[in-house]
Amino acid sequence: MTPASQENTRKKIIEAIQQRQNHWTVDSLSSGILEGNITALSAAITLSESTRKIDRALIDEVIEQVMLRPKNTYRIGITGVPGVGKSTLIEQLGLEWIQRGHKVAVLAIDPTSPITQGSILGDKTRMEQLSLNTNAFIRPSPSSLSLGGVTAHTHEAILLCEAAGFDRIIVETVGVGQSEIAVHHLTDCFLLLMLAGAGDQLQGIKRGIMEMCDVLAITKADEQNTTHANKAQAEYQQALHLFPAREDGWYPQVLTTSALSKSGVNELIETLETYLQWSLARGFDNRRLSQKKHLLEQTWWLHLKMQFANDAAFQEKWKSVEEQVLHQHISLAKAISMLGKE
Ligand code: GDP
Repeated sequence: MTPASQENTRKKIIEAIQQRQNHWTVDSLSSGILEGNITALSAAITLSESTRKIDRALIDEVIEQVMLRPKNTYRIGITGVPGVGKSTLIEQLGLEWIQRGHKVAVLAIDPTSPITQGSILGDKTRMEQLSLNTNAFIRPSPSSLSLGGVTAHTHEAILLCEAAGFDRIIVETVGVGQSEIAVHHLTDCFLLLMLAGAGDQLQGIKRGIMEMCDVLAITKADEQNTTHANKAQAEYQQALHLFPAREDGWYPQVLTTSALSKSGVNELIETLETYLQWSLARGFDNRRLSQKKHLLEQTWWLHLKMQFANDAAFQEKWKSVEEQVLHQHISLAKAISMLGKE
């Protein structure tokens, strides 16, 4: 297909969508988002999660239009095992940020459990107060996509929220697997939540995740738990000092918080904002640039993978080569060379 006929097909698809969904056109969706209209923002995120070609064509166009607006935004990744107190603390952080004049979006990545196929975050009522606030937007990210897919879709959701005027974007993830690494690639600051009094193994947090964090907060440091929490704070601070010094010179801070009594929430916000100022003067732009590079690579590999997955002739060849690897003991090198042949 020539570029001109490709462009024509794309325009036809967009026109067809506009006829089908007569209330959303590229222009009305884009301007709705830029005006901060939550219905438009939600519709756009839904379209970005769709696998239908026509939805993709529409949202690609919208993203092109809205991402040009200059913004000063801060993306914060928050992770911790289920029950550590993520949603309770995020609600307090969100309300405090709004009090300070910000608009807060919370994107929750909810990896579907591979064993039960159930949702880890579940449908429990989360962040009730924050969700009622007009300066907040809360949205779970799709759970059924592959990790690479989740990253690309969450990135798009971040861009759309930012275009709609949200300047504090929280990306929440359950600290039990690989999704933390994905979130680290999407955010400017990584906040790790830990409980006092439970060992690292018990909390299932890997050393690698601790190494990625910029700020660590001990949760549930209620009045009757302060001794434990302070002890944990000192231990984690010491543990973090054992990691190699960072290039930007930042020492990850450890704080104690109680979302229940709201103590330590202001201090946590201050630390997150201090880190933003610190990195704006040092590695902020570089971190975002290297994230874009990573996303481009990842999206490209995903695209190639999809191409192969949708290619019937290649799938047939795959089955035949797989059969030979499994039952005729051909080497992997030979299999790869067979797969690569026209
Ligand atoms: P998540 O699974 O990490 O999102 O954790 P939640 O925010 O849902 O909290 C899990 C449980 O811990 C809930 O029953 C909360 O009420 C409770 N919780 C959260 N923060 C605190 C806190 O600061 N102190 C106490 N005592 N309980 C808390």
